[in-house]
Amino acid sequence: MTLPPGPHGTGPRGTGPAGNDAAGTYPVILLHADAPAKPASGAACNGCGVCCAWQPCPLGVLVSGRRQGACRALWWSAPHRQYRCAMVSGARRLWPRLPALAERALQGLARRWIAAGAGCDCDAEVSRAADAPGGSRD
Ligand code: SF4
Ligand code: SF4
Repeated sequence: MTLPPGPHGTGPRGTGPAGNDAAGTYPVILLHADAPAKPASGAACNGCGVCCAWQPCPLGVLVSGRRQGACRALWWSAPHRQYRCAMVSGARRLWPRLPALAERALQGLARRWIAAGAGCDCDAEVSRAADAPGGSRD
């Protein structure tokens, strides 16, 4: 099955266990409960959203105006039960007045820029809240 372009970014966006800081703490990433589990780095992107909810890629930094936290272009597609990148799926989701021609041009550029379809390039180690030490889904 060919997956539609999920959110996918060009690294580096940090490595190791979800970017633990010097104090040994771990960032909490909020994702849709139906989001698929993150696959191994190098596997086909399944739209889990971990990478883009953690840190924006270089394109996402421009779109979001920040280097940390969820990218503004990340959105949840309920029918597909996947996260998507608005730069690839349609930037008018973010900028409704963007001309169609500019949207299409941006789609082409974004696909190349974020290497859509090239596989998961995020090596963050993630665990669900209930699986983390002291965690709970309650
Ligand atoms: S690139 Fe990896 S972490 Fe990012 S959405 Fe795709 S599968 Fe998830
Ligand atoms: S621009 Fe797209 S691929 Fe990059 S971080 Fe944002 S949602 Fe993810």
